[in-house]
Amino acid sequence: MSAREAFLSLKKQVDVKIAELKRNPATVRLLAVSKLQPVEKIMELRKESQFDFGENYVQELLLKQDSLTDSAIRWHLIGHLQKNKVKQVVGRCHLIHSVDSFELAEMLSRKAADHGSTERILLQVNVGGEATKEGFSVESFKEVLPQIATLSNLELHGLMTMPPLENHAEANRAHFRRLRELLESTRFQVGTHPWNELSMGTSHDWETALEEGATILRLGTVLFGARPAKKV
Ligand SMILES: *Cc1c(COP(=O)(O)O)cnc(C)c1O
Repeated sequence: MSAREAFLSLKKQVDVKIAELKRNPATVRLLAVSKLQPVEKIMELRKESQFDFGENYVQELLLKQDSLTDSAIRWHLIGHLQKNKVKQVVGRCHLIHSVDSFELAEMLSRKAADHGSTERILLQVNVGGEATKEGFSVESFKEVLPQIATLSNLELHGLMTMPPLENHAEANRAHFRRLRELLESTRFQVGTHPWNELSMGTSHDWETALEEGATILRLGTVLFGARPAKKV
């Protein structure tokens, strides 16, 4: 199956599911995770009016952005962002999903101010609580949120999570639900920030994530097939 066929088929399934759940289709976005995939595959979906593409690695995102020069594409950074790469990404992303420390948020705000931009971000929370996963613990998230909300050049759009076992949809339901509850229970702390996005669910568990309120589904394998190995 081509990326185009996979995309059209998946889009149909997502639309059916949204209708079943009686959710508003305008509140759900499909993010095509194109990491390690060639730009040709991005073009294939772009021709089908897909605008949101997600990348994990800063270098790869910048290279693809430069080579495609398509200003309609909304680039999302979903992989871990190192502080020494912050300067390179400001002004280049539609949404950064992976802000996972106060220091990173603070630096993003500062570099965005230098650049004259406002960065749209999500805070990544490790709702499962495993030591090995990236993201804020629930406790540290609650502690620093009020401070992050006051940083001048950030716009807080919501939360992102990546559960420990991607292919255990039912086991992940509790994590997705927890993320939604966190978004709702902290709304009073974020003032005028939009605070309405839940980036959760991948190829294996997007249906469960949709049931639990996901607004951005991050789909890679199901659209593009298996990823080539990362060159090191
Ligand atoms: C790679 C990746 C995805 C996509 O995963 P698939 O299983 O290929 O759909 C989603 N989110 C993050 C953070 C990723 O790194």
